[in-house]
Amino acid sequence: MNQPDAVAQLLAAAERHVLAGESVAGIAVAQQAMALAQVSGDNNAVAHAAMRLGALYRMGSQHARAADALTLAQAQFEAIGNDLGLSEVAMQRGQMALDTGDYVHAIDALAEGATFASRANATLLQSRCLTGLGIASARVGNYDRARRNYAQALTLQNELGDDGAAANTLHCQGVLELRVAHGLSTDESARRERLVLEAVKLLEASKVLAEKTGRRRLEGMCLNELGRAHRLLSDTSAVIAYCGRAIDIFNQLPAPKDECEALLHIAGAWLDADNTASASQFAHRSLSLAMQYGYLPSERDARNLLVECYERTGDIPSAFAHLKAVRRIDREIQDGEALRRIDQLDHSSAIARSGEIQRQLQERADGLRELAQTDALTGLVNRRGFELTVERAVASGARTLSIILADIDHFKRINDVYGHLVGDEALRGVASALRGACRSADHLARWGGEEFVVLLIDASTDEATVIAERLRSAVAHIDWPSASQALQLTLSAGIATGPATAPLATLLQAADGALYAAKQSGRDRICVAPDCVLGR
Ligand code: GH3
Ligand code: MG
Ligand code: MG
Repeated sequence: MNQPDAVAQLLAAAERHVLAGESVAGIAVAQQAMALAQVSGDNNAVAHAAMRLGALYRMGSQHARAADALTLAQAQFEAIGNDLGLSEVAMQRGQMALDTGDYVHAIDALAEGATFASRANATLLQSRCLTGLGIASARVGNYDRARRNYAQALTLQNELGDDGAAANTLHCQGVLELRVAHGLSTDESARRERLVLEAVKLLEASKVLAEKTGRRRLEGMCLNELGRAHRLLSDTSAVIAYCGRAIDIFNQLPAPKDECEALLHIAGAWLDADNTASASQFAHRSLSLAMQYGYLPSERDARNLLVECYERTGDIPSAFAHLKAVRRIDREIQDGEALRRIDQLDHSSAIARSGEIQRQLQERADGLRELAQTDALTGLVNRRGFELTVERAVASGARTLSIILADIDHFKRINDVYGHLVGDEALRGVASALRGACRSADHLARWGGEEFVVLLIDASTDEATVIAERLRSAVAHIDWPSASQALQLTLSAGIATGPATAPLATLLQAADGALYAAKQSGRDRICVAPDCVLGR
């Protein structure tokens, strides 16, 4: 087989992987196509290979690689003046921005894609860009633009007789009207009902086409949204019927994330109807599925619903246990969210065209990076930030490191006696007292829970002991505001000093041992780790 034929065959195979959503197998094929195309020196083949590769990287969530491949494809298509290729690249870019929640870039790219596609008379591609544009516009709250985009897309898809694409667009339209209805206040009930009924019509139409074209997940999603719509209409039995059918489909596919959501709709409908027993049963089913698959947002929603169930039945300890878990999940989600957005902004800043946009994005990424290293409750550096601080100290030539690990005594009692809100307030108070007791060169962080850690660079054990004593005394003398006057907190701490070349974990372990000794010997005191004392 000659080279161009081989490239064409590999590209056709890569295209099949794109359509089947198989990123891992597809990437290998597309990389082969790319290598061969580059050898052949055929710009058109290179452009197509780069575009398929970009699409497959995107599906595999390898965003930076996808961006590189798409940039290459775009340059090649521009060089040979291929509008169709340019529209496909723009659509991939837009889709990727939608995936990462970067809706502003999504709008730019998808609008560009629609223009190129229209120029190249690629009607289906144009309609898909318009649907994507609708989704992005809806996400930034521009509902009128979204409605226009969807209507244009649907007109083109109907002209083409492409039922699959139309099913998708109708679903998006239905979801949009529901979202708008949901946001209306109760005194706009007439308008709200009109919008919900409009959404029901659109979703029913989408469901029919999804069934006809064998799109099972979309069919389930329509049923699920129809359930949501009927919850807004306070029709409990319809919610149960629609979501029940959705659950059957999601269970067969399987699509557990969607199944969690459908189960929660039913739970919510039971709660609306004041049947807490059934509500709790469905919420528990959703919870165990969410936990099995590690879906934090679904787990949080299920637990929030359970909090409401338990509150209604007066089971306060159970409600409280779920509420505590919700708080933990919220923190985890926030952490993950911040890291994801850092990646996204780093990536966006790399591809931003103008220097000014790039600078702004970089600033936001820096801000988020700082946020990811900050403890939300106390404003202190968190554990991740502390570890980075230690790394920086070692890198800049520190010889010895001293760690003071401090733990509030009997803190659990504060929560038990006064509740978690006062507990939180106490943690903030302790954090600010510790901040005041540290010197400017010391590095204070919240290690976790009611534990704090201080890093001293090139300090002797005696110096570290003096600082630890200052921390202890500062906490003992906090002047609590009137709301929590009765609080009397004490602090225990362990100190370890060692060479900067030692692993941080070793030093921490030694400090923890010393802290344990301080607790054992009566609390409200400082102990120094014996093995690690090097001083200077
Ligand atoms: P000890 O003197 O042995 O250290 O006793 P303790 O009660 O302080 O220790 P324990 O580790 O058993 O309990 C720590 C408590 O700190 C348990 C947990 O509920 C509470 N806690 C941890 N993080 C937070 C928080 O962010 N807010 C509140 N309010 N409490 C927290
Ligand atoms: Mg503790
Ligand atoms: Mg404690």
